[in-house]
Amino acid sequence: MTGTPTGTSLPRLAPGSTIGMLGAGQLGRMTALAAARLGYKTHVYAPDAAGSPAAQVSAAATVADWDDLEALERFARSVDVVTLEWENVPVATAEHLRRFTNLHPGPDLLSVAQDRIAEKSFVNGLGIATAPWRAANSAEEVARAVAEIGPRCVLKSTRLGYDGKGQARLEAGGDAAAAASAAWAAIGGGKPGVEGIVEGFVTFACEVSVIVARGADGATVAYPAVENRHKDGILDVTIAPAAPEKVSAETAAEADRIARRIAEALDLVGVLAVEMFVTADGAVLVNEMAPRPHNSGHWTMDACATCQFEQLVRAVCGLPLGSVERVADAEMTNLIGDDVLRWPDLLAEPGARLHLYGKAEARPGRKMGHVNRLFPRR
Ligand code: AMP
Repeated sequence: MTGTPTGTSLPRLAPGSTIGMLGAGQLGRMTALAAARLGYKTHVYAPDAAGSPAAQVSAAATVADWDDLEALERFARSVDVVTLEWENVPVATAEHLRRFTNLHPGPDLLSVAQDRIAEKSFVNGLGIATAPWRAANSAEEVARAVAEIGPRCVLKSTRLGYDGKGQARLEAGGDAAAAASAAWAAIGGGKPGVEGIVEGFVTFACEVSVIVARGADGATVAYPAVENRHKDGILDVTIAPAAPEKVSAETAAEADRIARRIAEALDLVGVLAVEMFVTADGAVLVNEMAPRPHNSGHWTMDACATCQFEQLVRAVCGLPLGSVERVADAEMTNLIGDDVLRWPDLLAEPGARLHLYGKAEARPGRKMGHVNRLFPRR
């Protein structure tokens, strides 16, 4: 789908080449650091690139809007390939860039990953299960969807939601119509461009994710399934790999199979994270996916032969993918908001690997850094 048919190779970009990066946050920063280690330069493009986590460690930064066609062309012509750290880059922006340079992942893949309905339709079309869902574009449609799916649901905006934002829970009991109206209002229903999806609430035993890297030649590697624990809708801790008491070998293999299948069907060139729910009886349901490095893959920076960020660099530069060998088990803890003030203690803790993102202001809910702790392999 990305326009580079499977089985072909990308031109191999030699060290010294420049990678264009759409988006300027911590994922771009850690990709730029991995690129620099291999001798590549990074040029960041984002409306908020000035002084950003990624720009701080990149060779160049363009501060311009996503619809600034001239700036996009200049940027595209100044780099050797473009990738992204934010999947909500407008599809029109991706299509424009594509006229001047290689872009991975490409516009077709982005249009699937940007919209929860397109995403779930795509996944279900592959025969892969998700929570039951319905599109809902008014309070009445929300109420109807809840009546069909069951009383415990989650209403989400179809686009631009992250870290639990743009979501409202619907519970059994009470006035169903009033609850639907409140939920619809809570996600900004009625505002221009806001569309909704009602999902059945999954009583999961745990949440897992699998991160896949895939080259233009179809070569694919995957990291083991990890367990993700959230707090207030934001990833708190990742346990890598997921403990076998929680996620059996069969369930982990199923999660791996699902993630690889999606990457292949999307003809991914780059890195893809697939987030899944595991139910008490071991069923695996896809929640969402992100065609970029993912917070639940940060543990690979210290515990694997090749980290997820280096895999992205390798994939888009036409290099062979690296080994995903795990040299240690790991626990990754996010530092959200004021958590980052613990940095002196974390630095003093033997074995704790601290990663800070260079963000000046520790606002509540803002991802400021993470810490990886390593353990002998089980
Ligand atoms: P999302 O933005 O879709 O990743 O949702 C954020 C978090 O909300 C997930 O990681 C889950 O913990 C929870 N969540 C989202 N959708 C559902 C669902 N259908 N059933 C149960 N929990 C959910």
